[in-house]
Amino acid sequence: MSKLIHFIKELPSLKNSELYGVYPLSLNRFGHLHVFMINDKNQDFLIATGIGSTQFLGDTFQEGEFSYVKAPLNHHNANTLRDLFPFTKPIPVLNKLRSFGVGDRLGIATEGHIRVFKEYDAYPILAQQSIRELALTNRTYKDVLDAASFSVFRDGYKDGFGADGDHLKKASEVEMALNLGFSMITLDCSEFIRNDVTAMTKNEVEKACSLDLEMKKRYLNHAFEVEGMKISFDEEELKRNVLVYGKAVDFAVQIYTDYFANGKTDANFEISIDETATPTTPTQHYFVANELTRRGVKLDTMAPRFCGEFQKGVDYIGDINQFEEELKIHAAIARHYGYKLSIHSGSDKFSIFKLIGKHTRGHFHVKTAGTNWLEAMRAVAATDPKLYREIHKYALSMFDEAQKFYHVTTDLTKIKDVDTLKDEELVDLFKENDARQLIHITYGFILNAKNNDDSFRFKTKLYDLWREKREVYADMLYTHIGRHLELLYSGFQK
Ligand code: ZN
Repeated sequence: MSKLIHFIKELPSLKNSELYGVYPLSLNRFGHLHVFMINDKNQDFLIATGIGSTQFLGDTFQEGEFSYVKAPLNHHNANTLRDLFPFTKPIPVLNKLRSFGVGDRLGIATEGHIRVFKEYDAYPILAQQSIRELALTNRTYKDVLDAASFSVFRDGYKDGFGADGDHLKKASEVEMALNLGFSMITLDCSEFIRNDVTAMTKNEVEKACSLDLEMKKRYLNHAFEVEGMKISFDEEELKRNVLVYGKAVDFAVQIYTDYFANGKTDANFEISIDETATPTTPTQHYFVANELTRRGVKLDTMAPRFCGEFQKGVDYIGDINQFEEELKIHAAIARHYGYKLSIHSGSDKFSIFKLIGKHTRGHFHVKTAGTNWLEAMRAVAATDPKLYREIHKYALSMFDEAQKFYHVTTDLTKIKDVDTLKDEELVDLFKENDARQLIHITYGFILNAKNNDDSFRFKTKLYDLWREKREVYADMLYTHIGRHLELLYSGFQK
């Protein structure tokens, strides 16, 4: 091991770095302390040498006057790294013109993501997970954040990135994420949104809601103007709005007051009202934005539920003309109130990205998650056909169970039998929506499948493979996420 001393003697020159497994872009200095990352027998470690190296916890190696600490990638060492090198710490990015979330469920995607964001000025949210994703992948917010910090350090990405506590539904979750240093919170208000109101008759609405005088004065008998467009409410519509969104607005105000108001944090605040049964009409969007603003909430982004369907991991399904018409108004409302539109379930929505770029005038936040997992599985299909076939069959067997948690219109009969496909044809499955959705929604089952002796059936093999073929995965992400950005950017001029 002390071979590394030869390298350290020559620091800060990077001479022969490849001989020692050093990641050349990871070399950083703080005063007389040098820190960098190495790949030792297919595992990454931090190496710290010089004054202050013992802030990192690990094994110490000494030879003559030279010494270093070989530190594993754990939470303590991640914290030390973030203290010493601020570029490894997430920053608020929703207030930038453009931002893009890349949920990295596996903790291995950042290498490919960084290659994309070195080419675009959108700020990446490299750490972005919902509580459901954490549960299904057996990870914690610490793991998610640390994986991002280590990756930006290793790959020398210094332009800034965000960390999103995504789809949080409880005060305790918001508090936990903020305490860990997450730089944005996506507050999911769906549990307070009533889905039964759409089906209510005029009479039922009449009975269920009585409007106070102030509310009537605020909304009735006059129109609001947003960038030349008129928005107005009649009494029934106003009542429906109050019934559907009233409690959600109260909840958002409460969370904002407790955790964000008066400079309590510099983290960004996003509201999501997208996980509901019916789309958010522009009038409803206006109502929610106006009520929140009136009650002192300063939003950075809001995610309405757009018309049409945003199913996981496949292109937009629906009437693109109607989508465009409504998007124009949604974007104008967001500008009017000083925040950006956030587009959730943005994975693979290629047919609408240009429109989003255009009508937001290049000011957007787009979230993706599942597509990064799908690319990881595509990498498996490309590099280990036998393992892929086994997983694919397992996914088919778990599909009914998985489907309970997602709204998808997958038709399993359209998926080709993997035993009839040649090895090199397996990757083409990922061009087809039904196969994509099959693999998408079963990710938790695949990662958690166990053998009789309680060892993981696939997970360990998968991570070993991804580690070995990391460049294949990084290349795939670079192309695939790059395509998302290319289309978004085609809609506006900088
Ligand atoms: Zn969402």
